[in-house]
Amino acid sequence: MSTSTASDPLQALAAGADLPAAQQPVWPDRDALESAVGTLASYPPLVFAGECDVLRDRMAAVSRGEAFVLQGGDCAETFDSATADNIRDRVKTILQMAAVLTYGASMPVVKVGRMAGQYAKPRSSDEETREGVTLPAYRGDMVNAYEFDEASRTPDPARLVRAYHASSATLNLVRAFTTGGFADLRHVHDWNKGFVGNAAFARYERLAKDIDKAMRFMNACGADFEAMKATEFFSAHEALLLDYERPLTRVDSRTGHLYDTSGHFVWVGERTRDLDGAHLDFVSKVHNPVGVKVSANAEIDDLLRIIDLVDPDRTPGRLTFITRMGAGRIREALPAIVEKVTASGAPVTWVCDPMHGNTFSSSSGFKTRDFEDVVDEVRGFFEVHQGLGTHPGGIHVELTGNDVTECIGGSEKILDADLGTRYESVCDPRLNHQQSLELAFLVAEMLAQ
Ligand code: PEP
Ligand code: MN
Repeated sequence: MSTSTASDPLQALAAGADLPAAQQPVWPDRDALESAVGTLASYPPLVFAGECDVLRDRMAAVSRGEAFVLQGGDCAETFDSATADNIRDRVKTILQMAAVLTYGASMPVVKVGRMAGQYAKPRSSDEETREGVTLPAYRGDMVNAYEFDEASRTPDPARLVRAYHASSATLNLVRAFTTGGFADLRHVHDWNKGFVGNAAFARYERLAKDIDKAMRFMNACGADFEAMKATEFFSAHEALLLDYERPLTRVDSRTGHLYDTSGHFVWVGERTRDLDGAHLDFVSKVHNPVGVKVSANAEIDDLLRIIDLVDPDRTPGRLTFITRMGAGRIREALPAIVEKVTASGAPVTWVCDPMHGNTFSSSSGFKTRDFEDVVDEVRGFFEVHQGLGTHPGGIHVELTGNDVTECIGGSEKILDADLGTRYESVCDPRLNHQQSLELAFLVAEMLAQ
């Protein structure tokens, strides 16, 4: 953060444009790119710097063990799926999960949507071949279209501007839902009662009843339910496409600092956290709370250097490590990392992404994850932190409010053979509405221990 206090922060930002940036599309039309970037630079910010500061304070509370954070949403948002119903159902799922987690943790839950900007994806290969035809890989709706033909897969800079508008419309509706009465804790609790009313989820009935009792207790005490009609809700996405993030980065008139105004919280992925690369340079220069994904293969020295680069001032809430190690590796790989980072004195916030280390190809050919592995990774995360006396700060989950069949398992017992029934993700498999709620009940039990 120190560099952005230089006399011309935008110049400091521009200097990073020469650094190598992994996972960027090859735009065929440079003039069109320049025009799109100019358009984005002329548009208003999607979020305000002051809101980012509030989230940094919330994340600081998470790092001290005084709050829990829930980050959730699609692996890849698409323009077509940015509908009122989809946005409402995703927000509803996150609110339902948060209510259960709040009870389990007896702490505030910081709600963050992986939404309103999650339109760019890193890919393991630049190209995709089907039946002898090779085309550029799908890199997210911000870059190209999913359909497999040459026109669709050709990167189109006009999509950067569409991503801005889709994000803006999404955020507008999210703000309306979370402040206009939809988030009323009493409704959210009623929805959760509906969930445990289903026989498949009977084992969570006791916890739901306990929450019900707590609600009635609050009511009897005259708790101000009016005040609980609105809730704070933040947006987050991977800061992957620098041609989108840079023009939306602005100088805050209050402080003179740079903020990436495309979202409240942005993170750098496992594949782009190169210490000499453009992505870490970019997040080091903005004042948002930021995350870095950490796999089981991470080198501890790299992580310590990332801390020095991104959080030289050791500001609580500034830097979150989102660990995504896999259920089979977290118990062996996480302890040394947490120990050494803690010993360095850095106030890092720890969040568990139990999705990206647990992906596999099913026998029916779908990319999937097993709900049991997801739960087991979160359990491992809690075990490691509780064993070391550090704080398991939160979870980062790919989820949707819809009844898709993308991950196997859960009490509804989605099987390999069911995956084709409703597989809609254009990238990674998401927990469906029921699996998401079930995860929340299980994590609430872990938090309550
Ligand atoms: C993601 O969050 O969708 C992603 C690609 O994660 P990671 O960088 O951890 O692989
Ligand atoms: Mn993903």
